[in-house]
Amino acid sequence: MQSIKNVKTKNPKVLPGADNPLKFGTIFTDHMFIMNYETGKGWFDPRIIPYQPLNLEPSAMVFHYGQEMFEGLKAYKTKSGKILLFRPNKNIERANKTNRRICIPEIPEDIFLQAIKAVVKADEAWIPTKEGTSLYIRPFIIATDPYLGVRPSDKYLFMIILSPVGAYYPEGLNPVKIWIEDEYVRAVKGGIGEAKVGANYVASLKSQVKAHDEGYSQVLWLDGVHRKYIEEVGAMNIFFKINGTVITPELNGSILPGVTRDSVLALCREWGLPTKECRISINEIYEAAQNGTLDEVWGTGTAAVVSPVGQLRWGEHIMQVKDGGIGPISQKLYDTITGIQLGEVNDTHNWTVEV
Ligand SMILES: *Cc1c(COP(=O)(O)O)cnc(C)c1O
Repeated sequence: MQSIKNVKTKNPKVLPGADNPLKFGTIFTDHMFIMNYETGKGWFDPRIIPYQPLNLEPSAMVFHYGQEMFEGLKAYKTKSGKILLFRPNKNIERANKTNRRICIPEIPEDIFLQAIKAVVKADEAWIPTKEGTSLYIRPFIIATDPYLGVRPSDKYLFMIILSPVGAYYPEGLNPVKIWIEDEYVRAVKGGIGEAKVGANYVASLKSQVKAHDEGYSQVLWLDGVHRKYIEEVGAMNIFFKINGTVITPELNGSILPGVTRDSVLALCREWGLPTKECRISINEIYEAAQNGTLDEVWGTGTAAVVSPVGQLRWGEHIMQVKDGGIGPISQKLYDTITGIQLGEVNDTHNWTVEV
């Protein structure tokens, strides 16, 4: 593997001002990482270049059969000026698992991490420092072979782009309302639900539009076979605290194995809370809401970290989660994880990696 070439931009952009709300995924930094793949040659020519449009043939395979994958993680700047990544090796491991599922050649883990570090370092000045802000890192791979037949591509581009993002909840943690989808499904076991690919998102758009029209911010998916068992929310895994026990759906092959999910389970166990990863039906949730044992509901994902849920709607049933406010475990998880990410809470699990 050659070392990473570095071409600096000649026209640096103006950095966003301190009061810019940094709406998620709208602002991009000065540079990007890019590396090519060709069958017979492997991954080659890793380089950092000015952020710029791509030049692709209209016949590039990604446009026709959707051979594309992505990842998402964040970099934080600590008060002492260190740059920290949160569990990047989990993302890299998951990326290669996704690659195997959709026939994209794997990326050596050390090169992947080196690429993330190098591009974050190149645009270090773009890491925002206001409370709740971070630099969102988006690695992704597309199939670029100019060919209309159906088979895995022989050419790929691996890229990493960066976007400074504001606090997910500018006024602090804020409970969301969730729409439980019982018509459409996102994924089934044996499909691509456990891979982080754009195709899962295109399958979700129609429900998301419906939920938004009804005044709900996110969709909760049920399993594709019985339309009964809880899967996950949009781009988040889901947790329930029922009668003192923290419960989340088991990794059954159709839900995404979230890094935040894994971290939340580890912390709950460390705090001595009873936890369960199991199959859980919507009827059980409804029952718990009815009999007053549904203590807390929250989603987990890199973007929001922890997202408390105040209300769930299932057909005609509206389930209120306690008083609709932020539960104590949701708050403690949010404070602990963001504290570790910012180097302000003791990182006993060695989750952070310095750039
Ligand atoms: C990325 C993602 C998540 C959350 O995973 P994290 O690693 O915690 O960010 C959950 N569900 C889906 C469908 C996702 O794409």
